[in-house]
Amino acid sequence: MISIRNRIGSNWVNAASGETGQTRNPADPAELLAEYPRASRAEVRAAIAAAREALPGWSTMPPPARGAILDKASQLLTARADEIAQALTREEGKTLAEAKGEVLRARDIFRYFAGEGWRLGGSVLPSNVEGELLYTRREPLGVIAVITPWNFPIAIPAWKIAPALVYGNTVVFKPAEYTPHTAFLLVEALVDAGLPPGVINFVTGPGANIGDELVSSPEVNGVTFTGSHAVGTTIYAKASRNLARVQLEMGGKNPLVVLDDAPLDMAVKIALTGGFGLTGQACTATSRLIVQAGIAPSFTEALAQAARVLKVGDGLDAQTQMGPVVSQSQLDTDLEYIQIGQQEGATLLIGGKVIRPTSRFLEPTIFTGVESTMRIAREEIFGPVISIIQVANLDEAIEAANTASFGLAAGVVTNDLKKALAFANRVEAGVVKVNEPTTGLALQAPFGGFKQSSANTFKEQGQAAIEFYTRTKTIYLGHG
Ligand code: NAD
Repeated sequence: MISIRNRIGSNWVNAASGETGQTRNPADPAELLAEYPRASRAEVRAAIAAAREALPGWSTMPPPARGAILDKASQLLTARADEIAQALTREEGKTLAEAKGEVLRARDIFRYFAGEGWRLGGSVLPSNVEGELLYTRREPLGVIAVITPWNFPIAIPAWKIAPALVYGNTVVFKPAEYTPHTAFLLVEALVDAGLPPGVINFVTGPGANIGDELVSSPEVNGVTFTGSHAVGTTIYAKASRNLARVQLEMGGKNPLVVLDDAPLDMAVKIALTGGFGLTGQACTATSRLIVQAGIAPSFTEALAQAARVLKVGDGLDAQTQMGPVVSQSQLDTDLEYIQIGQQEGATLLIGGKVIRPTSRFLEPTIFTGVESTMRIAREEIFGPVISIIQVANLDEAIEAANTASFGLAAGVVTNDLKKALAFANRVEAGVVKVNEPTTGLALQAPFGGFKQSSANTFKEQGQAAIEFYTRTKTIYLGHG
């Protein structure tokens, strides 16, 4: 069994209390994977203090030198990609191909933000005072708390930590309880790349305890969180009491609209990837299929056929196309919603059952006859469960898409450019995909949801990240 340690200042440490938590393999829950420290609130305070102490040195290091360390980290992630992908599949469950893709995405994110070290700058403005130099500087925000979910255990931490660091902030990172090993391997790569002591700190344990300490601390200047809506909103209330800057990216109920003119095979492939890829455990996963009446019968039949033959199993098996559900509690949630859907009067077309008793392999599940008012069409399930809603035309499709309180990603499959553009303009979502799955993002493009999917404050990723991780100072340099 692997022993994970925390990082506080310049030390790798166990919890002072000796308390630990354990992780298990979702493909074989009998298999114990790792033991991680259950840090105390005092240890979180020590991590924050270490981050604060490291701030003056790190923030004044020339940005290209900070970028060079990130670049080294990206090289280490390349060298260790297979090892990290194995660890990721074993603790989160996604297939090895999906895990490897995620690790390489994290590598690319560090590579991208390493380059930002050369580009960080302010602007020079025209002055109305003769001889005055009027300019702005981008300065780091300070100590950043990074709190992340289990479903992308390396990519999400990477897209928060890389910009935080390159722009001169120091970090306290708290990963999800199910995936501390992948998170530890990322922190280890950063330390091995030469980050000075205290610049990255790593604490593991239950969110309600140590996460709460982090977001309530007046010594934390910014909180960046990805996770559930319920947790995100409590974090917002606590962190804003200290006027900390807050960025929240939360749940989704992502619609994919299939219009009558959609090429059938393409539509099925897009729906299958978006709905059942990553076991449906992606914030941008397709959970509602809004299908125009003309294509609905053939599309539904073809999708059901393709979903029935998906190979569900251990992500380490090269034949597997869909891995297990991450945890027993997530599986219980999925099964509860499958029951709710039937009670609400939707038709369970395929799936709905666990493949082997006591396993966490859930069949790809499709409901038909779903109404937008039903709970399965409104609430986030976060599993391989798709609801098909039938509509008459594009207007009805857009209206149905916009009924959910979430607004993360939305897609449309059509060859009609006018309809595609109308959808892109009118749908309430932060990410819109035309003829592509709702899942999958470009690391150089702004990412964030609308409505209840986000705090609607700052976007993540690409050039947009600078807005959250820096503050702007305006300088009036006169001659007297
Ligand atoms: P979660 O909200 O249960 O946990 C997220 C993180 O918050 C974990 O590290 C957890 O320990 C911590 N936490 C829990 N309680 C806390 C508290 N009181 N104070 C501070 N921290 C606390 O979410 P999860 O189950 O890990 O992840 C699934 C959710 O994440 C889904 O809702 C999904 O949609 C969302 N998600 C959103 C995006 C996005 O970019 N919008 C991406 C991935 C996942």
